[in-house]
Amino acid sequence: MRLSRAFVPTAKEAPKDAVLPSHIYLVRGGFISQVASGIYNFLPLGKRVLDKIRSIVKEELDKAGCQEVQLGFVTPCELWEESGRLAKYGKELLRFKDRKENCFVLGPTHEEMMVDLVRGRVSSYKQLPLNLYQINLKFRDEARPRFGLLRGREFVMKDGYSFHADEEDMRREYALMEETYKKIFNRLGLEFRAVEADVGAIGGSASKEFMVLARSGEDTIAVCSSCDYAANVEAAKRKLPKPPAEAPEFSAFEPFYTPGLTSIEELSDFFRVHPYYFVKAVAKKAKFGDEERIVIFFLRGDDELQDIKAANAIGADELLDAQEDELKEAGIVPGFIAPYEQECQIVLDEALKGAKGVICGGNKEDYHLIGADLSHFDEALFADIATIREHDLCPQCGASIRLTKGIEVGHIFQLGTRYSAAMNATFLDKDGKAKPFVMGTYGIGVSRIMAAAIEQNHDDRGCIWPKQIAPYHVAIIISNIKDEAQRSFGEELYHKLLEAGVEVVLDDRADRFGPKIKDFELIGYPYGVIVGKGLEQGQVQIVDRKSLQKEEIAKEEAFERILELVK
Ligand code: ATP
Ligand code: MG
Repeated sequence: MRLSRAFVPTAKEAPKDAVLPSHIYLVRGGFISQVASGIYNFLPLGKRVLDKIRSIVKEELDKAGCQEVQLGFVTPCELWEESGRLAKYGKELLRFKDRKENCFVLGPTHEEMMVDLVRGRVSSYKQLPLNLYQINLKFRDEARPRFGLLRGREFVMKDGYSFHADEEDMRREYALMEETYKKIFNRLGLEFRAVEADVGAIGGSASKEFMVLARSGEDTIAVCSSCDYAANVEAAKRKLPKPPAEAPEFSAFEPFYTPGLTSIEELSDFFRVHPYYFVKAVAKKAKFGDEERIVIFFLRGDDELQDIKAANAIGADELLDAQEDELKEAGIVPGFIAPYEQECQIVLDEALKGAKGVICGGNKEDYHLIGADLSHFDEALFADIATIREHDLCPQCGASIRLTKGIEVGHIFQLGTRYSAAMNATFLDKDGKAKPFVMGTYGIGVSRIMAAAIEQNHDDRGCIWPKQIAPYHVAIIISNIKDEAQRSFGEELYHKLLEAGVEVVLDDRADRFGPKIKDFELIGYPYGVIVGKGLEQGQVQIVDRKSLQKEEIAKEEAFERILELVK
């Protein structure tokens, strides 16, 4: 491609609302342009990157035996009624009516449509398993579309759905998809982790998220410094922490006057006891459908409550903050809550199992209990509800845990019969009985990957594309287009590289060198060839975009050198 003819509208100014590098550089580099909040056009360079991502995803899925389909983007409300999601989905689901007053929604995900496609057409266990996917537009009317392609309203997703005769076969496919996703993200040239994800209160079924590691990620993930354990903090487990030295000794279990002291920090100073030996109480309002009630969670003083883990432990939809008067109404003494004699439900963190000689609230204003012994508490009251911390111990191997940020680019999920049962999609099994399909679902954020790649790979000048998804591999920059020798050498090299199948652009614009090299750095082609003054001495420069290092080479060697680099 000749940049003199190309539609690559680069810009000096970043969009006003842009804070993240991927948003800024993708717009400034002329990859995408905004149409409306969370809706983007893909310009020629952006389209090339998107297509590359798409084709890597497709190749690996096809190799794993999946089949591509393309379903309607506009989907009838009746199907969403059947699954029960029309009422449940909320405002992310964009609904509208056609001229005949039929109700439709723009597909945010396609479980219903895929189940509808398969039911009636696949009727026997002999036709199973089946794994169908599409790479298509999705629309979600996100509450806060932001960060460019990272959280759009209209975006490109690969969504796959598998159908099985039983759980075991579904788990086999799930493992195959995990392997396939790893191949995909490796081929995309991204540093990523497959992390255990929160599966919600229903539990049981497994789910993994694929996270591209990047500082700007919205998710915090816990990764082991030694083995392959990785989990979203919403789901991360840990080996129980080792007790710090110097356990306090109490001769009796008795109330102790602690006037106005409610925080663990104040109490730890007052008693000169490590926070580990305190019992911290966190009272929350738990939501179960339309019902709400107070639940008190107890943790070691140096731990924090993980709301999602805590909600899952009691089967709640979510946990809300409880106001002081609501606590008092429930007979609770805020700031001095004991795990004893509570009327509401209590849950204790696993790290408190068997705890003796600890300090907890006294259920009385200004009093704590010292020398408490929790070893007699019923096993059933304990659950894993604490937030994993940096340097906690890996649940698999015991090595130190590191916290890092990630961007979710993929998600695999053992779905079971949730949709097939609700939508009456059944097959005849070996025993002649009709059974609902057991399903798995697998998503990849194709357009989000484009932004995630830049969040992970950029510097203060612009994008640094991984070779596998770079819009082009090399740019030949003719420093001064009026110089006949420079121009003809650049043209010649350009044609030779094109012939050799190299993805090359020729910067033959009648611009000064400064803006050209700035564009090169902003767009982030992996390599550049600068054809400038050195040509008089028979030299050209090769630039590595990532390191910004320049290599002087004889002009005759340029062609071979580039072939070597882009190989
Ligand atoms: P998130 O927690 O980021 O909202 P999600 O759990 O809603 O994601 P899924 O429903 O599992 O996402 O969708 C599959 C994939 O689609 C995600 O892993 C993500 O990569 C991508 N994705 C989801 N929402 C968006 C969005 N608003 N913009 C771009 N990509 C998205
Ligand atoms: Mg979402």
